[in-house]
Amino acid sequence: VFSAVELAPRDPILGLNEAYAADRRETKVNLGVGVYTDDQGRIPLLRSVAEAEQARVAARAARGYLPIDGIAAYDAAVQKLLFGADSALVAEGRAVTVQALGGTGALKLGADFLKRLDPSAHVAISDPSWENHRALFEAAGFAVDTYRYYDAASHGVDFAGMLADLRGYAAGTVVVLHACCHNPTGVDLDDAQWAQVVDVLRERQLVPFLDIAYQGFGESIEADATAVRRVAASGLPFLVASSFSKSFSLYGERVGALTLVTASSDEAKRVLSQVKRVIRTNYSNPPTHGGTVVATVLNDATLRAQWESELGEMRDRIRAMRDGLVERLKANGAQGDFEFVRQQRGMFSYSGLTSAQVDRLRDEFGIYAVSTGRICVAALRSSNLDMVAKAIATVSAN
Ligand code: PMP
Repeated sequence: VFSAVELAPRDPILGLNEAYAADRRETKVNLGVGVYTDDQGRIPLLRSVAEAEQARVAARAARGYLPIDGIAAYDAAVQKLLFGADSALVAEGRAVTVQALGGTGALKLGADFLKRLDPSAHVAISDPSWENHRALFEAAGFAVDTYRYYDAASHGVDFAGMLADLRGYAAGTVVVLHACCHNPTGVDLDDAQWAQVVDVLRERQLVPFLDIAYQGFGESIEADATAVRRVAASGLPFLVASSFSKSFSLYGERVGALTLVTASSDEAKRVLSQVKRVIRTNYSNPPTHGGTVVATVLNDATLRAQWESELGEMRDRIRAMRDGLVERLKANGAQGDFEFVRQQRGMFSYSGLTSAQVDRLRDEFGIYAVSTGRICVAALRSSNLDMVAKAIATVSAN
C-alpha cells in the first residue's frame, strides 16, 4: 500500500524550527515560531492555570469520557467570551458550542460540517492568511479563493480591494475572517471597516467563519470580540473557531471550540446533533485536561481576574517589544520607517523584510524569521532587542 507514497513537502514553519534547533550559535533567535515567550524566553505557565491544575490534581478526578460536545461549563464560558455576558442570541438558544482540539480542530470540524451542507460552495481566505487555512479547507474538499487584504505599500489593509472581492462572491461562499490580531500580518480592520464588511456579508448572503485565536492579545477580551459581536448583530448564520492555545499558554493541551450561530433554538438543536456526528466519527470526544482547566479559570471569579491580568501582562510585553524594536531600529539607523510595527496587533508583524533579507538574517546573525518577512514579536526579549534591531538595520541597508 505504501510503495508509491511520495514524500510530502516540509511544513515551512516547523522546518524553520528544525534549522534553528540545529544552529550552534549562542546568540541565535527564533522569530519564526507562533508562540508567546516571556522576557526570559520561556513559554509561561500561567498562575491561574497552575492553580486550576492543582485543584484538579487534588480532586483526584476520574477520567471518564466527556460528552461528545465537551464540558458544558466550558462551552457556556466560550459563548460568554465571544458574545458577552448578556447576549440575546445566547439567551435565545441560537448558539451551539462544542469543545474542539484547538483552533485547528475547530476549523476542521466546521469545514467538514459545511462541506456536507453545501458541497459546491467555495471558501475565501485573506491574502495572506494563516498558512494552514488553505490546506485545511482544501483537505475538507473545498476550492479555496483569496480576497485582497494586505497592502504592502501602506503596511495596512487594501480595504477597497477586500470589499470588491467580497462583493464578487456567490451567495453561500464561506468567508474566513481573522476576528483580531491577523496572522501573519498583524494588521486588523477597525470598527467602521468591520461594519462595512458585515454589510457586504449580509447583502451577498455569505457565510462568515470567524477565526479568533488571539482574543485578549490586541486590546482586551471585550474589544477583541468587536468583529464577532458585529457579525452576531447582523442576524446572519455564522461559525466561530476559538483557540485558547495562546491566551492560556496551553499550546499542547489542544483547547479550542467551534461555535455555530443559527436562526432559532430549534435549528441550533438540529445543527448540534449533526456536528456531534462529525465529532463522533472523527475522534469521538475531546480530551479532559485542557478543557477542565480553562472552564475552571473562566467560571471562578478570582481565577478569571488573575487570568485577565496575566493576559494583560502578555499583551503589554508584546507592546513593549514593538516599541523597543521600533526605537532601536531608529537608533541603529535602519533604512525606512518602521513606525507601522507599533500599530500592528497580536503576536506577529509583517516586517516588510524581503525573503533575501530574511536569508541574510539567518545566515549572518542566526535570526530566524519566515521568508514572507513575518516575525513573531512575542518571541523578542529585552536582552536580544538590540542585537535583532542591529541585524535588521544591517540587512535593510542597501
Ligand atoms: N488560527 C490562527 C489564525 C492561528 O494563528 C492559529 C495558531 N497559530 C490557529 C488558528 C490554530 O490554533 P491552535 O494552535 O489552537 O490549533
